[in-house]
Amino acid sequence: MRYQRPKGTADILPGDSEKWQFVEETARDIFKTYQFKEIRTPLFENFEVFSRSAGDTSDIVTKEMYDFHDKGDRHITLRPEGTAGVVRAFVENKLYGPQVLKPYKVYYMGPMYRYERPQSGRLREFHQLGVEAFGSESAALDVEVIAMGVSLLKKFGLNDLKLVINTLGDQQTRDDYRQALIDYLEPHFEELSDDSKERLHKNPLRVLDSKAPEDQKFVADAPSILDYLSDDAQAHFDETKALLTALEIPFEIDATMVRGLDYYNHTIFEIMTNSKSLGQGYTTICAGGRYNGLVKELGGPETSGVGFGLGVERLLVLMDAENIAFPNNDQLDVYVVGIGSEASATTLKLAQALRGAGFSAERDYLDRKPKAQFKSADRLNARYTMTVGESEIEQGVVNLKAMATGEETQVAMADVLNHAQQVLTGK
Ligand code: ATP
Ligand code: MG
Repeated sequence: MRYQRPKGTADILPGDSEKWQFVEETARDIFKTYQFKEIRTPLFENFEVFSRSAGDTSDIVTKEMYDFHDKGDRHITLRPEGTAGVVRAFVENKLYGPQVLKPYKVYYMGPMYRYERPQSGRLREFHQLGVEAFGSESAALDVEVIAMGVSLLKKFGLNDLKLVINTLGDQQTRDDYRQALIDYLEPHFEELSDDSKERLHKNPLRVLDSKAPEDQKFVADAPSILDYLSDDAQAHFDETKALLTALEIPFEIDATMVRGLDYYNHTIFEIMTNSKSLGQGYTTICAGGRYNGLVKELGGPETSGVGFGLGVERLLVLMDAENIAFPNNDQLDVYVVGIGSEASATTLKLAQALRGAGFSAERDYLDRKPKAQFKSADRLNARYTMTVGESEIEQGVVNLKAMATGEETQVAMADVLNHAQQVLTGK
């Protein structure tokens, strides 16, 4: 039997994993400057955490959930997205309490699971970096979150991006707009896709988000939510736009954008790219918005939230397509070359001492001749080689060679074992 990884999953091998580390480290650095702290929640949650939050008409809940009953007959779901679990943790740990500083700002990074048709930048196990900020209604926080997403992508060298925003308003807006959409779509009921027929009365906004061509022809002439904003919703949207302008962050407004999850209100946004590497047209790599009802939906007191999720696979496909260079810190400090099998214990000891002093060190484990060992040192990009044979061991010395200059010196073995830092850096 030949084993293969499950459809829609990937092995991230050395050579690529460094790119992932670079992305994660850069994100951590940026999140830190905005004072977001890391939160780690379980990879699986009770089914209801997602069905309640994403909404039972969303694609995620109706088609894409990896859910199962465990041996205790609990209905479990592998998380399809990060926000619901973070909100569940926020409520369960009573982080809404007065002793916790607001806004409460967290980030996460890790795998997500959706049963989708795999293609470029679309997997069944994929990874997101995301942020959430709870406990402030201020449009300044919406803009901080958007600005952080934009900065992050810029930091990765991506400049050819488009920020698209919209507002879903408050409850009043949603109720008024919902009715207007139903009135508009109802006469076309028979022409809609089956999904949209099903959703028209449950959640007509979903029809705008449909990818089915028969639905899309109705999107262009649909009533605009911007004509249904309550005074509060209008004020929040105006301030969001003004603050984005103040930060000189260019944006477009797309009044038909509704996002794939049901929990959003007020500001929603997507950062998109036109790169062919992810298919025709614009593809979203970072998306988010405000979700003022979600904490309450999951059993907490009314607390507002705003956040985004960014797809790491899509980011990496894009960075590769744009030929963005990743820093190459793939260098070895020292390759310890042993001449003859008697040197084995000594080279092992030297490598161990170097590693203990914080240097990367490697040696041979396949009884290679010195010449082949030097070749390995080259392939590994070693800064130094350290050679020991029978006579060096007798004299208690090693031959140290700086590979860049070819300069060779003899160093006391005791110094390498006890003062590696001094030997290699002169400090
Ligand atoms: P799409 O419309 O492309 O299906 P979505 O609306 O389902 O996206 P979100 O739930 O907002 O996506 O997730 C945020 C980001 O996570 C997306 O912009 C994308 O970069 C990434 N993402 C979502 N689903 C996948 C997937 N199956 N594989 C890889 N990345 C994904
Ligand atoms: Mg999707």
